[in-house]
Amino acid sequence: PPLYKQRYQFIKDLVAKYKPKKVADLGCADCTLLWMLKFCSCIEVLAGLDICASIMKEKMHRLSPLPGDYLQPTERSLTVTLHHGSVAHKDPCMLGFDLVTCIELIEHLEQSELKKFPEVVFGFMSPSMVVISTPNSEFNPLLPGVTLFRHSDHKFEWTRAQFQSWALETARHYDYSVEFTGVGHPPKGMENVGFCTQIGVFVRKYPQASESAQFEKPTKAAYKTVFKAVY
Ligand code: SAM
Repeated sequence: PPLYKQRYQFIKDLVAKYKPKKVADLGCADCTLLWMLKFCSCIEVLAGLDICASIMKEKMHRLSPLPGDYLQPTERSLTVTLHHGSVAHKDPCMLGFDLVTCIELIEHLEQSELKKFPEVVFGFMSPSMVVISTPNSEFNPLLPGVTLFRHSDHKFEWTRAQFQSWALETARHYDYSVEFTGVGHPPKGMENVGFCTQIGVFVRKYPQASESAQFEKPTKAAYKTVFKAVY
């Protein structure tokens, strides 16, 4: 399967394993991952965030309930919300999540946004689990036609050592553990370059403050809600 599908499948497998109830996807783009996750019966709250409102709106109606959802109501409730905003800003709507995914997001951040990102995601949102994926630049020589970066919009692409040192320092600072894996296996004989996409899975070491975490972190809203569906 294409690489993006392998990344989404990685998240679906993680959801099947840990059964998070509240999942947020940062840099959700056209909401394809959110749309896939709405079929995971453990999930009760799904949220998406992107700095580009037009790409989010393109296919967001896939997230609306279908007639069948009303005809055969299930036990679980599901709320899907899309927010327009930046991962460099805090908003209380992102508190209380079990899993936050950032798939191919960080390499699109400007230096100043990347600097704020850990405090927003790990310090403020502080979900039980965070998944971050980003290109592994060591794989690039195997990709035809890639000279500097895989996409012109990438601000950087990291080697495994660069990503891992950033991730380990972030995890240490915010009291998370982190494990590294990836998707997109290198061809036989080239195993030393590692996965095409590198992935860090972060797990919070300290227990969740409480349901009232939202009230303990008074913050003004910074995002704009562009879509909401209640199943
Ligand atoms: N996660 C999706 C996926 O895996 O297919 C989309 C990845 S796309 C390469 C990166 C997305 O991050 C874009 O939709 C872009 O608009 C968004 N983005 C870039 N900077 C952002 C920021 N500061 N805050 C939120 N989203 C941002």
